[in-house]
Amino acid sequence: MSKTVRSARRGLIAGFVAALALTGVAVDAQAEQLAKNLFGAKTLPAATAPKSYGFYSKGCFSGGVAIATDGPNWQAMRLSRNRRWGHPAMINLIEKLARDSTQDGWPGLLLGDISQPRGGPMLSGHASHQIGLDADIWLTPMPDKRLSASERENMSATLMVDEKTHLVKDKLWTKAHTNLLKRAASYPEVERILVNPGIKKKLCDTVSGDRSWLRKVRPFWGHDYHFHIRIGCQPGSTECRGQEKVAAGDGCDKSLAWWFTEEPWRPNKNPDAPKARDIMTMKSLPAACVAVLSAPSPVSEAAVTVRGLGSPQPTIAATSSSSTPVTANAFSEIPLDRIPIPMFRPDPAQ
Ligand SMILES: [Zn+2]
Repeated sequence: MSKTVRSARRGLIAGFVAALALTGVAVDAQAEQLAKNLFGAKTLPAATAPKSYGFYSKGCFSGGVAIATDGPNWQAMRLSRNRRWGHPAMINLIEKLARDSTQDGWPGLLLGDISQPRGGPMLSGHASHQIGLDADIWLTPMPDKRLSASERENMSATLMVDEKTHLVKDKLWTKAHTNLLKRAASYPEVERILVNPGIKKKLCDTVSGDRSWLRKVRPFWGHDYHFHIRIGCQPGSTECRGQEKVAAGDGCDKSLAWWFTEEPWRPNKNPDAPKARDIMTMKSLPAACVAVLSAPSPVSEAAVTVRGLGSPQPTIAATSSSSTPVTANAFSEIPLDRIPIPMFRPDPAQ
């Protein structure tokens, strides 16, 4: 081996080792960063197969789709937060609930937060909503006009519960509220619906006939302006950790009575303790979330937005390869149980 070849080789190896070390440093540096900052900065989803990783309060997801800001039976609120993203199963379920609940006297949904484009912890709010399988829906019916962007930012939902007694304000509660929750609970993929204890009590006290669906409706703090739908881990998400099954029975028992004691409402002894999101680094999340963070984005938000049926919709073109079947028209009139998942195209610019 000549001297030049040898030294070139040495140079190459040294360069390779240095590059490795640099990559290592970069990976370590990322591992130490707060996950909320990295996930909070993503504006588009990971254009890979839909998968949830980790748990509702500690994870991320890929293959997210957005629900349109406006659909025939919904309007999304707080648009500036960019939290209209979810696992396709979650987004399809919201679209279906919006449509189905119009039959129950609910004029349309006002949508609160779902997830960030790639999930993960958020810069503000919510401990959960991290794996694309949680969604908040306002307990305020959709008005019969399109809200402006600033109304969507500033309009307040209706507080349904008296903060002192923790009981539902009877003047505000309607049969349509009950029907909406019943409809949401009727879908097999919905595992839990979180509501304020006052709302659970109202249902316990007033629902007659079939009460089996009450099992899924769980009392929790907050949830007095909105309710929270949680679906289970979806097929293909082998690294998604499900939650315990809800207990048998309608839950209108001692476990509910506890909420009407003083104990759950005692002031937090340590209000300044850091929240999970303030200490959660990439190391705390499933390892797969590093790849989710660096995965390519789809070509545009529109390409991965679900708009619902019955209005003129854009067609997502096939990828440039002509051998790829055109399966990506998310918006054609198709059987309602098969709302397709838009197909992703990696953004060449990324
Ligand atoms: Zn929620």
